[in-house]
Amino acid sequence: MSITIAEKHSTAAKQYVQAVYETVSKRNHHEPEFLQAVKEILDSLIPVFEQQPQLMEAGILERITEPERVVSFRVPWVDDNGKVQVNRGYRVQFNSALGPYKGGLRFHPSVDASIIKFLGFEQIFKNSLTGQPIGGGKGGSDFDPKGKSDNEIMRFTQSFMTELYKYIGPDTDVPAGDIGVGAREIGYMFGQYKRIRGGYEAGVLTGKGIVYGGSLTRKEATGYGCVYFVQEMLASKGLSFNGSKVVVSGSGNVSIYAIEKAQQLGAHVVACSDSNGYIVDEEGIKLDTVKRLKEVERKRISEYVKEHPNAKYVEGCGGIWSVPCDIALPCATQNEIDEKDAALLVESGVKAIGEGANMPSTLEAIEVFLNNGVLFGPAKAANAGGVAVSSLEMSQNSMRLSWTFEEVDAKLHGIMKNIYNNSVKAAEEFGYAGNLVVGANIAGFKRVADAMIAQGVV
Ligand code: NDP
Repeated sequence: MSITIAEKHSTAAKQYVQAVYETVSKRNHHEPEFLQAVKEILDSLIPVFEQQPQLMEAGILERITEPERVVSFRVPWVDDNGKVQVNRGYRVQFNSALGPYKGGLRFHPSVDASIIKFLGFEQIFKNSLTGQPIGGGKGGSDFDPKGKSDNEIMRFTQSFMTELYKYIGPDTDVPAGDIGVGAREIGYMFGQYKRIRGGYEAGVLTGKGIVYGGSLTRKEATGYGCVYFVQEMLASKGLSFNGSKVVVSGSGNVSIYAIEKAQQLGAHVVACSDSNGYIVDEEGIKLDTVKRLKEVERKRISEYVKEHPNAKYVEGCGGIWSVPCDIALPCATQNEIDEKDAALLVESGVKAIGEGANMPSTLEAIEVFLNNGVLFGPAKAANAGGVAVSSLEMSQNSMRLSWTFEEVDAKLHGIMKNIYNNSVKAAEEFGYAGNLVVGANIAGFKRVADAMIAQGVV
C-alpha cells in the first residue's frame, strides 16, 4: 500500500491533477512546506476525478489550491529595554465554502508564508472532516515567545491584534491557538479585540479562558481526540492502549493531553520531548511534573530528570523515535519523522501512529508506515479534535450558554469516531481500503467540493 497512487488511474484524471500541481508549484516555487501538503492531497484525489470527471470542469482543484486571501502585516512593539522590535504577521483565509475561516495562530521564529499556507490548506480538509460548519484558515507570526516577559508578550499580542482585527469576526474568520499561542496569548488578543471593537463578540476567537466564554474540554481536545482516533484504529485489529508502550513527542498542549488520555486508557507512556531534547522514563512519565514544568513554570523538559533521577534525558529531540514502542504519537511539529525515523519505528515493532501535530511525517516516512502495514492516522483526521471543539465553543458562544466537560467530551468522542468511520468508508469506496491518508483526504475534499459547486465560481 502506498500514497503514490498515480500509476493505476486514468490518464485524464492523472493529467489533470498533475497539471494543477505544476501550476501550483510554479506559482509557489519558494514554498516547500505548502507544496508538500498540496502534493500529498492532490495525488490522493486522483480516484475522485476519475469517478467524477465533472469536478475537473468546475475548476475545483485550481480554486481550492489558491487562498481566497493572504494578509501579511508589520507588527511593531517595544521590548523591556525600550528597543523597537518588528515582526511579521500573517493571516491566510484559504477557503470559506463551509463556513467562516477557522484555524489557529502560530507564534514561532520558523513562521513564514509557506508554513502558514501549508497549515491553512490542510485546515480546509480537516475542518470539513469534523462535519462542523467551518472553512479553512491559519495565521501567525515569526515572533518567538520563548524567553519573553509577560509584558512583552502582552505588548506584542496587542500590536498583532491591532492589525488583525480588521480581517476577523465571529461570522468571517475565527482564529485560535497553535504553537506558541496558548491561553495567555488568546486572553491578551481577546482583550485588545474587545477594546478596539467596543463590544463583546465572544465568538471571534476560540481557546478562550473558561471564565470569559471558553469551552470546557477545548484545552484537552486535540490530544484526547488523537487518542480517541487511534483507539478506533487499534480496535479494528483487536488491539488497545491498555498495556501498550507509547512514545509521544513534544510536551506542549497536544502532547500533554494525548499522554493524559493514553494513561487513562491504561497505556504505559515512556517518553516525551521538547525542542531541545527528550526524556525516557521506563517507570512511566509522571504527567504532573511535565504539566507543572511546561504549563506553569515554562521550563525545559530536561528539568524532569532532576525530580525523577531514574529517568534519563537525551540532548536533541529527533532521537526520540529510537525509543521502542507499540504506539507513536508525534505531537510536536512538522516533518519531525523522516524515512529513517520511520524505519527505526517499524524495526522496533510499532503497530500504530497517530499524528497529533500537523504534517509530522514526511511523505517518505508515510510510505514506510503504509508499506509495512502500520496503522497510520494522518494529522488532518487524527488531530481534528481541537478544531472540532473550537467549533463547539463557537456554538456555545452563539447560544450564550456552556456545556459541561462530560457533554463536550462525549461530542468530541462522537466526532472522532465519525471522522474515523468516514475516512475508512471513503478509502474503501475509492479502492484504497485501509489507507486512511487517502480516505481522510477524499472524505474531507468531497464535502468542500460539493459546497463550492453549489456556490458557483467564486
Ligand atoms: P505548543 O506550543 O503547546 O507545544 C509544542 C511542543 O512541541 C513543545 O513541547 C515544543 O518544545 C515542541 N517543539 C516545537 N518545535 C519542535 C521541534 N522542532 N522539535 C521538537 N519539538 C518541538 O503547541 P501545540 O501542542 O499546540 O501544537 C503542537 C502541534 O500540534 C503543531 O503541529 C500544531 O500545529 C498541532 N496542532 C495543535 C492544535 C491545538 O489545538 N493546539 C490543533 C491541531 C494541531 P518547546 O517547549 O521547546 O518549544
